Amino acid sequence: MMHGGLILKIDLSGILYASLQTSKKKFEQAKTKGDIEEARKFATECANTERKLATETPDQKKAHMNNAAKWDEIAKGVKFVQKKAIVEKGGNDKDEEDDFSGFGETLIETSTVTWKDIGGLAETKNLIMETVVIAGLSKPESIKPDKGILFFGPPGTGKTLLAAAAAGSLKATFFNVKVSSLLSKYFGESTKLITALYESARKHAPSIVFIDELDSITMSREDDQSDASRKTLTTLLAELDGFQDKKSDKLILTLAATNMPDKLDDAVLSRFPKRIYIQLPDRKACQEIIRIQTKGLDISKVDLDKIGDMCVNQKYSGRDLQNVCRDAMNSMTHRVNKEIFDNIDKMAELPFEELQKKTLKAGPLFMEDFMQAIARIKSPLTPADLKRQDDWNKQFGAS
Ligand code: ATP
Repeated sequence: MMHGGLILKIDLSGILYASLQTSKKKFEQAKTKGDIEEARKFATECANTERKLATETPDQKKAHMNNAAKWDEIAKGVKFVQKKAIVEKGGNDKDEEDDFSGFGETLIETSTVTWKDIGGLAETKNLIMETVVIAGLSKPESIKPDKGILFFGPPGTGKTLLAAAAAGSLKATFFNVKVSSLLSKYFGESTKLITALYESARKHAPSIVFIDELDSITMSREDDQSDASRKTLTTLLAELDGFQDKKSDKLILTLAATNMPDKLDDAVLSRFPKRIYIQLPDRKACQEIIRIQTKGLDISKVDLDKIGDMCVNQKYSGRDLQNVCRDAMNSMTHRVNKEIFDNIDKMAELPFEELQKKTLKAGPLFMEDFMQAIARIKSPLTPADLKRQDDWNKQFGAS
């Protein structure tokens, strides 16, 4: 049976996003290899694709043009790649000095996420807003805004999203750093990268620095990377202590995240007096997340109270809910576009420009779409995982 309703245009930008991801990946690989020509080539490719995306998605034009400009800057500033190559070939310390001067720029992402894209987490959103506002206002010297906030909790609960929304709403520069990849890719050199990161954050302030997997750097590791890890942590802590001196009117807010708070050192914890437990969404938050994830579609036939309760019982995170909604939407798309999916072989042979002329229809979502999705999607969390987070929160969590 066909359900009438909303007509969705096929998302033309999809292929550009995919090509952007490929270019970014190739840029990363070239950078790691120290291949300056390749890195420059792929950075330029990213800039060009961002420009195409700007034309393709008018509502995000500005963000894509900003990204394009940043990639142009990166393409020009890949000299750290060259220096890294020198270091690898046995270069001296002087070469290493300005080794990574362009590195911070490579971590810049443009965020178009806003607070409205986040379901639940009202108190946390409020806390971040307060921190930012206090940082911006003129104030007596003794009132100092927080320099960093730590988010902990199970995976997929919106920690990255919060940082992206903080940056997106403020139109701040968003630095997104995964500590484990920093340590593994640039073994022994991550100290300079942290310095370069905060240099860029100062240069492009207001900045939100999101440091994910904070637990990957500790003082007490005993593996091969212990020395590199210790030095990196010392540098990070120094930056956290020093970057926002009272005379500076620049905002550089570090939002750090971990799924394993019990692995954090005391030295780290002391820099983050605000440790916010980002829990699994409750019933109301589940409903909000479902509304966000199905935006523009008809969900009036879905009993959201019932689905909300089921999602809480399933111990779903925001990411699990996103998957549930995708699965439900997928069922709906197949149902209302039978003529496309029954002939998918033929459709797949059409030139892309021909596909672009056709449309993918959207109809209402039904309870059954969600029930089937819930039956398929399992939370990866165990009760023990959750208990560990709860216990740590009771002992160390603080807001
Ligand atoms: P990890 O610890 O694994 O890095 P995380 O806590 O940083 O996870 P996010 O990356 O922020 O989680 O969330 C993953 C995805 O799940 C988001 O891109 C978003 O689509 C969805 N999501 C998670 N939480 C929420 C929420 N509160 N509101 C809306 N969407 C959410």
